[in-house]
Amino acid sequence: MTATAPREGQLWSRCGGCATLLYRKRLRRNLDVCPECGTHARLDAPERLLQLVDPGSFTALPDRPAEVDPIGFVDLLPYPHRLTAARAGTGLAEAVVCGTATIGRHPCALAVMDFRFLGGSLGCAVGELITRAAERALEDGTPLILVTASGGARMQEGVLSLMQMATVSQAIAALREAGLLTVSVLTDPTYGGVAASFATNTDVVIAESGARMGFAGPRVIRQVTGRPLPEGFQTADFLLRHGQVDMVVPRHALRGRLAALLAAARAGRRPAARPAVPRQEPSPGVARPAGEAGAATAPGPADPPGGDAWETVRLARHPGRPTTLDYLESAFDGFVELHGDRLGADCPAVVGGLARLDGRPVMVIGHQKGHTTAELVARNFGMASPAGHRKALRLMRLAARLGLPVVTLVDTPGADPGVGAEEQGQAAAIAENILALAVLPTPVVAVITGEGGSGGALALAVADRVLMLQHAVYSVISPEGCAAILWPDRGAAPQAARALRLTAPDLCRLGVVDDLVPEPAPAAHHDPEAAARALGAAVSAALLPLLDVPPATLVRRRRQRFRRFGAARLGARAGAR
Ligand SMILES: [Zn+2]
Repeated sequence: MTATAPREGQLWSRCGGCATLLYRKRLRRNLDVCPECGTHARLDAPERLLQLVDPGSFTALPDRPAEVDPIGFVDLLPYPHRLTAARAGTGLAEAVVCGTATIGRHPCALAVMDFRFLGGSLGCAVGELITRAAERALEDGTPLILVTASGGARMQEGVLSLMQMATVSQAIAALREAGLLTVSVLTDPTYGGVAASFATNTDVVIAESGARMGFAGPRVIRQVTGRPLPEGFQTADFLLRHGQVDMVVPRHALRGRLAALLAAARAGRRPAARPAVPRQEPSPGVARPAGEAGAATAPGPADPPGGDAWETVRLARHPGRPTTLDYLESAFDGFVELHGDRLGADCPAVVGGLARLDGRPVMVIGHQKGHTTAELVARNFGMASPAGHRKALRLMRLAARLGLPVVTLVDTPGADPGVGAEEQGQAAAIAENILALAVLPTPVVAVITGEGGSGGALALAVADRVLMLQHAVYSVISPEGCAAILWPDRGAAPQAARALRLTAPDLCRLGVVDDLVPEPAPAAHHDPEAAARALGAAVSAALLPLLDVPPATLVRRRRQRFRRFGAARLGARAGAR
C-alpha cells in the first residue's frame, strides 16, 4: 500500500490509501496529503524542500558527488549502470540533497534524502554529503535538520557503506559537543543503517504522519519469526507509543514545528558559548583509505584473494570456532562478568566485564554465540537485543570513567531482527552506541573474530584499531540477503559473497581493517589455544601505542579514521571527471 506522489504532467492521481481519484493540482495544494483519508504520499527531495523551508532561502552546498564504485560491484548489472539509471530517473546526482536555508527565518543546514534514488540508500557519497552538511552547520553555528527516506545502507558499496553510519555519526557528535541542535524528520520509509544511525541519534526525532521506521524490515522479521506482525507495526504511532520518537507531526504542521524548535535552540544559545571550529577539509592524500587508489584498482570478481570468499563465510560461521567466552578464558585472565542494562534486561548475546590482558586491566565486550544448538539458542545466535547494546554502552562508559581501555570481540550474524527488539528501539540502541564510541575518551580496539554482520557489528566496532581474524568476515549484509535482493536468488549467495568484498584481505586493502590476525592452519577451530594466543598478542600490540595518547587526541584520530571513508572518494576525484 505504497502511496506515490503524482508525477508532472498527470492530471489525476489515485490515492494509495483510499483509492480515490484526486485532481492532481488539488492534491499538491494539499501537500500531497489525500484530502479524503489523510494518506501522506511520498515526496521527492526537491518537493520536500519547497514545503519545508522559507521560499527562496535554500542554497545547495557546492559539493558534488564523484563517480564511485569502490569495490567494483557487479550483480546482474554493473553498479555504475544502476547509478546512471538513478540519475537519469531522478535528475539528482545522489540520494540526498544538502544545503542551507531558513525555516521561519531561523537559519539551519539541511540534508533531505530521496527514496527514488536507489531506495534512498546510504553509500559513500551520501554519507560524505550529509557529513559536509553537518560540518557546515558546525561552521555556521546553526542547527542541522535531517529528513530521512531510505531502505538502509547501499550494499553495492559493501562494508564501506556500513562505515558511513559512523562517518555521519561522528559529525553529529561534534554538533552535540558544540551545543548545536540536531533534528531528524523520519519519513516513510526509514530503515536499516539509516534508522540505526543519524535518523535516531539526533537530539529530537520527529516522525511525519504515516512514516514507518525500524532496524529490520517487515519482510525480514516475518521471515525470521514466521509469524504475522502486530497491527500498525513500525508506524509513527507505534514508534511514539514505544518511546522512540518525540512527536508525530502531520505534513502541514512540519514547517511550523521545526521553526518552533529552531527558535527555542536559538534563544537558548549564548552567543559566545561556542569556540570557532575550523571547517574540516581532509586533504585527499591523507583522506584516502590505505591502498585504495579508486575503482580501477579494485580486484575483479574473478580473483578473490586469499581463498574463496564463500568458503571464508563458512569458516567464519563454523560452530567449533572459538567464542568470546573462549577467548576470555584463554587469551585474557581474571574475567569478572558484569550483567544487565539497568533498564530491565540482561541480553545473553552480549557478554562483558573486567579482565586482564598481559597483566593490564581492560574492559572486554563481545558477542557470544555457542558451540551446540542449545548454547546457540540460549545466546540467540549472538544476535544482540537493544538490551545487549545498552549493556555494552554501559560498560564502555564505565571503562572510560575508570580509565580502562575497551576491547571488543565482534561475532554476530547481525542485531536481533525480532518484533520485541523493534518495540524496544533496536535502531536507536545501535545508533547510540556508534555515537558513544565516536566520543569515548579511552582507547578502543575491536577484533572481528567470526561474523561481522552489519549494524549489529558496527555497534561494537567504531574503534581506534580494527583487527580481523584471517577467516572472519565483515559485511553490510549477509551474502544470502544480498543475493535474495539483487540476483534475486538466495542460491547466488556464493557470488554475492565474492562481490561484497567481505574477507580480511579485502578489508585491509580498503582500509576498513588495520591488521589481519593469522589463524592456526587450517582455521581457528582446529587449534583454539593457538588462535587465542594470536588474538591476545595482536590486541596487546594494537593497544600499546594507544595507551599514552591523550584522550582528546585519541578521539580526534578515531573520528578522522571514520571521517575518511566518505571523504576519500569525493572532491579528490570530482574535479578530475
Ligand atoms: Zn486517500
